[in-house]
Amino acid sequence: MVTNGADDVLRLRERALTLPVSAVSPAQLTDSFTQSRTGGTTHEALDIMAPRGTPVLAVEDGRVAKLFLSKAGGITLYQFDPNAEYVYYYAHLDRYAEGIREGDTLLKGQVVGYVGSTGNASADAPHLHFAVSRLGPERQWWRGTPINPFLIWRNAKL
Ligand SMILES: [Zn+2]
Repeated sequence: MVTNGADDVLRLRERALTLPVSAVSPAQLTDSFTQSRTGGTTHEALDIMAPRGTPVLAVEDGRVAKLFLSKAGGITLYQFDPNAEYVYYYAHLDRYAEGIREGDTLLKGQVVGYVGSTGNASADAPHLHFAVSRLGPERQWWRGTPINPFLIWRNAKL
């Protein structure tokens, strides 16, 4: 019996995903997946604090599914994994990397943008908001089952 996305975490651990903020190590990560957010929602993501302008890196190869400007996320990028099973979400970007377009195939470690505080992030606490979701059969970039990214990079017991 599989619960709470543990099977997804194990599969993603096997891919040895790149941490999406350069110069940040797994030991520096803090789990905020279950934190409450305004409006009665749950965070369901990982916040990685870093100075504004720090490069944001693609965690693995895969296609840019959507470049999207949202009120909460600000400048965001949605990337599918190579099999379009998962979607990776990078938010609060200061800006995209030059030349990034929807449909581009990113390579693992490629710069996709830069850390910022666009959307509802505090201007004095720039960070990357990073989320992973398992896509449904329709492969809609905006919809999926959230997986805790913290558990992918930290070998906590599942
Ligand atoms: Zn966040």
